[in-house]
Amino acid sequence: MGTDISKFRRDLLRWYAASKRDLPWRRTRDPYAILVSELMLQQTQVKTALPYYEKFLRHFPNPEALASASENAVLASWAGLGYYRRARFLRAAAQAIVARGSFPEHLEGIRALPGVGAYTAAAVGSIAFGLQQAVVDGNVIRVLARLAALGADPTCGEGAKKVRDLAQNLLDLKRPGDFNQALMELGATVCVPDKPRCHDCPVQGHCAGFLEGKPGDYPRLPPRAATQVLVKAVVLALRGSGPRSEILTRARSSRQEAKFGASKTRLEGFWAFPEFEVPSLDFSAAEVRAVKEIRRLVGSEAPLTGRLPRVRHRITVYDIHLLPLRFFVPKSASLAPAAIKQGWQWVGLSKLADLPLASAEKKLLTLLNRVLVPNEGRGSQLGLIL
Ligand code: SF4
Repeated sequence: MGTDISKFRRDLLRWYAASKRDLPWRRTRDPYAILVSELMLQQTQVKTALPYYEKFLRHFPNPEALASASENAVLASWAGLGYYRRARFLRAAAQAIVARGSFPEHLEGIRALPGVGAYTAAAVGSIAFGLQQAVVDGNVIRVLARLAALGADPTCGEGAKKVRDLAQNLLDLKRPGDFNQALMELGATVCVPDKPRCHDCPVQGHCAGFLEGKPGDYPRLPPRAATQVLVKAVVLALRGSGPRSEILTRARSSRQEAKFGASKTRLEGFWAFPEFEVPSLDFSAAEVRAVKEIRRLVGSEAPLTGRLPRVRHRITVYDIHLLPLRFFVPKSASLAPAAIKQGWQWVGLSKLADLPLASAEKKLLTLLNRVLVPNEGRGSQLGLIL
């Protein structure tokens, strides 16, 4: 990019003042409210997070209110937003703030709060307290790689260091919060991943990628890993009937997740149903094994009551096909000792909405809901709020 950094800052900030989206967390300097917004926006789009942000702050308007709330109350307020670990971190951060007496005003102190990494600390610190720390998130990495026509991979090693240095070098030290938000806004609305809108870009004249005529060639990322197809049978074992039905489930542990590679350990703590890999999409073969599995878990025979439609979803490089099989377990059956040791338990269907569920399990429960209460829409009398 060109060397007139002052002009770059002016062009970017002028554009931001005129074009920024009107978002509620941009109307406050309250570090707690900004922290709430930053954690919500991790892995979540702005339009999805908006109603949750307002509802969450109505329920927990300050760190004291959040710190003294029960975990279940916090999770309920977060229900539907996913990635529940963020809600737990937020509550733990509020407790840490209350314990120390005030919101930390220095980068190290903000960074020390539970769930806060380098990016979040820089965002909260610069916006709420004017700390001179550049943010580096996915949007910023993309914009800077294009502006500098960076030949290296900007997500690791030397390339990542160049991006961090460039971000800090460009930062407007008088208005770090606005500058950080402006760069992120540019990445979110103009310098977008697939087709950057260079003709609407306020810093086009500073952009080496654009001046080369190939902005889309940046960032230079390594080729994506090949997709791996995974087929799994899922046992949906139900006990009882009507609103008091229970389902066999457990929270995933890091040990179970590690079997599928480090990329999936992020599902640790999310609740899941018995599942196992099968070699093909053949439901019949999956049923034979599922019958054995349910016998192992509940120590007795349990009739298979039907198949549900196949569920397909993606996690990182995995293209996962789930074959859901529904079983009815008699009320008299108790869990086998080995199953209890492995964490399996019966949980009321109406209570599942309060537990962290990944998107695959939500899809499975939506299907199950339709089968159990065919004339009801989503959110039936079983209370599955998904
Ligand atoms: Fe991105 Fe194009 Fe602007 Fe360069 S000119 S920063 S590639 S939108």
